[in-house]
Amino acid sequence: MKASEKQVGGSHYKDFPIQPAEFIHVNGLGFLEGNVIKYTCRHKAKGGKQDLEKAMHYLQLLIEHEYGPEVDLVRVCRRCGEFAGPSHACVGTTP
Ligand SMILES: [Zn+2]
Repeated sequence: MKASEKQVGGSHYKDFPIQPAEFIHVNGLGFLEGNVIKYTCRHKAKGGKQDLEKAMHYLQLLIEHEYGPEVDLVRVCRRCGEFAGPSHACVGTTP
C-alpha cells in the first residue's frame, strides 16, 4: 500500500477522493494554508467545532503573517494562543 493511501490513527480522511495531504503537497501550499485545509476537511469526522476553531486560528495566523498583525478577525487567547470564544477554558500553556 502506498503511504498516500494509508492513514495512521483514524479514518477521517479516507473518504476524500483527493487526500488533503496530497492536495496540499501537489499544490505547494504552506504550513498555515495546509492546516486550514486539513482542519476544515476533518471537522465532521473528527474534531467537530474545535477543528473549525483551529482552522480559523490558522487563518488568522496566515492573515497576520501575510498582511500584518493589526487585523483582529478572531480573538486568540494571549495566555495559551488558542481560539478564545465564549466557551474558552484556558489551560494556560504557552504556545
Ligand atoms: Zn487560553
